[in-house]
Amino acid sequence: MDSKTRVRAEAWLRYAQDLRLGPYYRDRAASHSAAIEPPSAPEQVQMPKDTSSLGVRSINSDSEPPETLRISTPALARPTLPIVQLSSPPSLFEEKVENDSLDHIREDIGPNCTRCKLHKARKNIVFGVGNPEAQLVFIGEGPGRDEDEQGEPFVGRAGKLLTQMIEAMGLRRSDVYICNVVKCRPPENRLPEKDEIATCSPYLFRQLGVIAPKVICALGSCAAQTMLQTTQGISRFRGEWFDYHGSKLIATYHPAYLLRNPPAKGEVWKDLQKIMAHLGLELPKKR
Ligand code: URA
Repeated sequence: MDSKTRVRAEAWLRYAQDLRLGPYYRDRAASHSAAIEPPSAPEQVQMPKDTSSLGVRSINSDSEPPETLRISTPALARPTLPIVQLSSPPSLFEEKVENDSLDHIREDIGPNCTRCKLHKARKNIVFGVGNPEAQLVFIGEGPGRDEDEQGEPFVGRAGKLLTQMIEAMGLRRSDVYICNVVKCRPPENRLPEKDEIATCSPYLFRQLGVIAPKVICALGSCAAQTMLQTTQGISRFRGEWFDYHGSKLIATYHPAYLLRNPPAKGEVWKDLQKIMAHLGLELPKKR
């Protein structure tokens, strides 16, 4: 196996191992056929340390994944109601700035932004990080403590899981762009409030206008509801494609939610595979 293939296979294996896919999918078929929300109790089954016994080979190889890693879940009963958007997706044109650039947006925000009350307790403005020409942008809700300390999004526990997810897709963190709905940490990690989102999100929309990615992945309710201008719960529309000013948008569960509810990682992996297919990335072989 060449080294690139090995890195991808290891990333996928780490993520699959983290998902505990084997026991989850075996048990889930029987017990969750009518579930709308994912089960909340995490499986406490450890995968063997020596993963060679799983027989997993490169996701590039022609071999099929072992049964323990196969992603062929019974379809969950999903609500069929269409998403209700309160208004059309946020307009890029209201915010359209001629010859806009990420540097320009950063300058407009300035080093000491006081436009909303989040400035009072923040240490750093967390602008966003990654490839300015990324085909894929991940949007979270707002910086947590680690992100506030370091000035970079998704560097704490949830961020490490997001990095694993990105690597499991065969990408590096530096290939994608990562940002948040609000750029300053909400105190006590509370949700960003309406006025804070209204003040800060135009800068996010400008970032998206500049990057113009093929795919936008909204992580969790706050990002999904902001991007789609809806108050509906994310489980109503998670995993569905939406159009966003020439990009495709998909919402999936937030990595912090996955840390509390590991079984939901299976649903997220399905969403990530949809993104991979749309971007033409190589998918793990199915049986
Ligand atoms: N959670 C988020 O939504 N964003 C971050 O940057 C970190 C954690």
